[in-house]
Amino acid sequence: MSTTAAVPTVADVVAELERRYPPTWAEEWDKVGLVLGEPGAPVRRILCVVDVVPETVAEAFAARADMIIAHHPLLLRGVSSVAPTTYKGRIIHQLIKADVALYVAHTNADVAVPGVSDALAHRLGLTDLRPLQPSRPGSPAAGEGRGVGRIGRLPQPLTLAELARHAATVLPTTAIGVRAAGDPDRIVRTLAVCGGAGDSFLADATAAGVDAYLTADLRHHPTGEHLATGGPALLDATHWATERPWLDDLATGLRATMPDVETLVSDLDTDPWTVHAASPAAPERSAADDKEPRP
Ligand SMILES: [Zn+2]
Repeated sequence: MSTTAAVPTVADVVAELERRYPPTWAEEWDKVGLVLGEPGAPVRRILCVVDVVPETVAEAFAARADMIIAHHPLLLRGVSSVAPTTYKGRIIHQLIKADVALYVAHTNADVAVPGVSDALAHRLGLTDLRPLQPSRPGSPAAGEGRGVGRIGRLPQPLTLAELARHAATVLPTTAIGVRAAGDPDRIVRTLAVCGGAGDSFLADATAAGVDAYLTADLRHHPTGEHLATGGPALLDATHWATERPWLDDLATGLRATMPDVETLVSDLDTDPWTVHAASPAAPERSAADDKEPRP
């Protein structure tokens, strides 16, 4: 008689995820953990995604995945209906009917080591990593190296313009690429990074004394004020592109600890932006250009 190893269940995957990303490490406003799915259901295949949207759900169905692990919460704010006539209710109905579980690891994965910004920093070649904003002492996430964002050193100094091109090359491909704010000739040796919308850490990047800070979703006024008050140069990538690298770390960890489960990673760009058109004859501005009288 041969014995067959039991197929891992949703509960087994949850236990493994919560060992790596304890839910108590999440911000108070965040909603992480199992969103839907029977804990006892078998899991043979997982799809890792940044966003749970109709396109990634369809990808999970096509791959015959039993579980989706997402970075962004599907349900962050309270709802009083999950009727299939609503956008999110439709997704919830589809997942439950197809018996596909959904799990979210969000800010608890941001602060972990390795976490979301470690994967981003590694893509850019940064070394000697430390958190941009260490987890508060005494908080559940407090611990060696844990916190939001990372600060590191580039393998060699680059101008801001070179760094923007480098980032656009090594980050996942998007329609938008990377834009930068500040003097294009500024030399960058130290770089802070934060996966996702990191404009609430602009002051931390300034306080850290880095040469530049790369994140996503930067806006006109905070960016302008930050630069005008002597802050580091800024690089703005797309939200998905800064968080997609973490999916590889997530999958690699699961493959190592749960070899009986096939773990796949979605490469579907879930950024809403699909077109980038450069203005005709728009050269990069340098600080020297700004000082020269224009004809
Ligand atoms: Zn995000």
